[in-house]
Amino acid sequence: MASPLLWTLFLISIIFFLKSHAEQEDTPITRFQQYLRFRTDHPNPNYTAAVSFLINQAQSINLSTRTIEFVPGKPVLLLTWLGSNPKLPSLLFNSHLDSVPAEADKWIHPPFSAHRTDDGRIYARGAQDDKCIGVQYLESIKNLKSRGFSPLRTVHISYVPEEEIGGFDGMEKFAVSSEFAELNVGFVVDEGQASPGDEYRVFYGDRTPWELVIRAEGIPGHGAKLYDDGAMENLMKSVELISRFRETQFDFVKAGKAANSEVISVNPVYLKAGTASNTGFVMNMQPSEAEAGYDLRLPPMADPYALKKRIAEEWAPSIRNMTYTIKEKGKLRDHLGRVIMTSTDDSNPWWSIFKKAVEATGGKLAKPEILLSSTDARYIRSLGIQVLGFSPMINTPVLVHDHNEFLKDTVFMKGIEVYESVISALCSFDGVYDQVI
Ligand SMILES: [Zn+2]
Repeated sequence: MASPLLWTLFLISIIFFLKSHAEQEDTPITRFQQYLRFRTDHPNPNYTAAVSFLINQAQSINLSTRTIEFVPGKPVLLLTWLGSNPKLPSLLFNSHLDSVPAEADKWIHPPFSAHRTDDGRIYARGAQDDKCIGVQYLESIKNLKSRGFSPLRTVHISYVPEEEIGGFDGMEKFAVSSEFAELNVGFVVDEGQASPGDEYRVFYGDRTPWELVIRAEGIPGHGAKLYDDGAMENLMKSVELISRFRETQFDFVKAGKAANSEVISVNPVYLKAGTASNTGFVMNMQPSEAEAGYDLRLPPMADPYALKKRIAEEWAPSIRNMTYTIKEKGKLRDHLGRVIMTSTDDSNPWWSIFKKAVEATGGKLAKPEILLSSTDARYIRSLGIQVLGFSPMINTPVLVHDHNEFLKDTVFMKGIEVYESVISALCSFDGVYDQVI
């Protein structure tokens, strides 16, 4: 009789054999793992291999493919499933090809190995943000096709580069291109975020970042002297006023009256002042210039004109020798002056269809949210086109941009089913929705 040790070794080798065999299989999970292994992380994303992988996948299910390079080396990949009535506005499902970097030594499994643990966790940078949806779109169409489903409206899938660094060479250029206009897009689904609970999260708007720099000038003077209109004193008055505004906004959140993403956040990010010396700063001199930088985030319904007035009159008034610059990293109103957000009530048929389609899979949607930061969706919403941010991940900790980002295989597979329902419902909508764009 073999010794217990030999038996153990025998069993271990069988497990290893089965495991490596499973990895070689061609399943939705292994295809997801393959896509996760492409190094599309910043600062040097390599899009070529990832794009040819996706093209192969798309061709295997007879989707037409097109690659557009608005900037050399930064491809936008467009897949199309033609509807039986291509005159109707189409649907677009978007994801980004790139991911943020990963500090490999802080991960329990290497971030680009897409290791799958025994309990089904797939560890990889991009597992949640947002390579999951990129593969789920394809897998769900594959399943719909295998069931003989054919769409009424044309369905497009786009894979765009550079989202994680602002989308300037990706979606920003694509959204205003003639190629995009020709798609005649009526409704868009873009990435969302994981939900630790059992309700799917859905996003109807982004916050718009503003970079604010306020500068004060004043008469320099001896450190010992008390006098009015010094640069530091002028700046500090503004810093106090801004902090008070910040508190009033934060109070709404603390009182439970608003979500973090529903108020204007204003956070100091740097202070610059002082007269340099060889050992640090000259301590007996009050400087003639002082500067502070702020990160502001405005929810869609914020009034940008009122905030600008506040900045000009209170935070950096010329009567206190102050100047300012605002770098607006997006728009708060579209070309018709409308608030840039997607309506999530039954007046919007796209919303109702989307909601019912998720519910048809046994899922429930949480109260729609505004995203704390911003995604590529803002470029499409500012065209007047409706966009919902949605990544079907429930019972999953939010690990976007974090170490040890993972997604469970069962959650990934359920997501495919959810998209089957969502895509088939949306592309079967034969009603007219008069949207002015
Ligand atoms: Zn993302």
